[in-house]
Amino acid sequence: MKERVLNLLKEKEVKAKEIIDKFNKHVMPTYGRYDVVIKKGEGRGCVDDEGNSYVDFGSGIGTNSLGYCDKKWSDKVCEQVRKMQHTSNYYYTKIQADFASKLCEITGYSKIFFANSGAEANECAIKLARKYSFDKYGKNRNKIITLTNSFHGRTLCTLSATGQESFHNFFFPFVEGFKYVKTNDIDDLKDKIDDNVCAIMFEFIQGEGGVIPLEEDFLHVIFKICEEKDILTIADEVQTGIGRTGKFLASENFNLKPNITTLAKGLAGGLPIGACLGDEKCANVLGKSTHGSTFGGNPISCAGGLAVLERLQTKGFLNEVEKKAKYFKQKLLNIKEIDSVSGKGLMIGAKLKTKKAGDVIARCVEKRLLILTAGDKLRFLPPLNIDYNEIDKGIEILKEVLEE
Ligand code: PLP
Repeated sequence: MKERVLNLLKEKEVKAKEIIDKFNKHVMPTYGRYDVVIKKGEGRGCVDDEGNSYVDFGSGIGTNSLGYCDKKWSDKVCEQVRKMQHTSNYYYTKIQADFASKLCEITGYSKIFFANSGAEANECAIKLARKYSFDKYGKNRNKIITLTNSFHGRTLCTLSATGQESFHNFFFPFVEGFKYVKTNDIDDLKDKIDDNVCAIMFEFIQGEGGVIPLEEDFLHVIFKICEEKDILTIADEVQTGIGRTGKFLASENFNLKPNITTLAKGLAGGLPIGACLGDEKCANVLGKSTHGSTFGGNPISCAGGLAVLERLQTKGFLNEVEKKAKYFKQKLLNIKEIDSVSGKGLMIGAKLKTKKAGDVIARCVEKRLLILTAGDKLRFLPPLNIDYNEIDKGIEILKEVLEE
């Protein structure tokens, strides 16, 4: 009997190894992947090929906002799959109209362009800002200021917009027209503003750069200068948006309304979508044939997105996010090895005293806990509907790892 069980276990291991080998043989090695084959979702966590359950403190990378295969979400998605998976953007669909109007109603923006990802949403924002300026002031007013520690995507243009020097490598020539201001440095901002600047682009809380919130003073100076000089503000809320910080948009934490906001990650609960939202100034800048996307605003993603918006609008949902965030942060701070925590809502960074974030994460995966890094910090983006037991369970594993 014991031998049979052992053989079965071995078989399962071989199966996982086979999948990994097959994968590595055929897929470009652009990610440092862990040796885990995720087979299916299970509530807010997931299960690997060998039947082990994982607590998921990453929810993809902040994408599975309602966990895995949430009942109401998957019902809506499946209903749409059976009705119509796609049609060209040369025609209208009710689901896209419904999703766009709901998103405008919640956020107060005037119009949306739908893309498929965060980088694409940002590409749209950059094109929009340059065209706004071109239409009003001519060709030369085209510079965009971004911040030194920012991350805006992996396409050539959004890599160029990304302010972290380490991303400006290999793929020369990069796209011209970006200037980088030191994060939270008002003097540097004032120095770099000139008559050729058409937009300032920023994350309210820098995600990939290390879960670093922008300071209120810095933000208020940005908005003041932009208002005075008709420079557009572009908030990249790809990571911070859709309830992640306890508000629908992170901008609400600061009482600010950028001209443009971009969204992606959690917007459709794990289906690919990106959105560029423009206020009344920006609503009609991109006219016919100036921008497009074959798959942008896919009906299935819109159905998933509507389910996410409905859930976030249920009474008390976002308050719960804030409460759980407080609880989560306190639990982290009770661990000796954790030096400090940063972020807002369920977007949390943790600075370690002595251990390396990468080593900790690898060990957590072995012990069935999925987390992320951001710079030298641990980063937590759990599903927004995670429950207290799951938080406790994951933190217990993390604590064990940090005390090893
Ligand atoms: N902007 C921010 C703030 C992000 O965190 C990311 C992804 O991590 C992106 C843009 C790029 O999004 P995507 O990977 O969907 O293109």
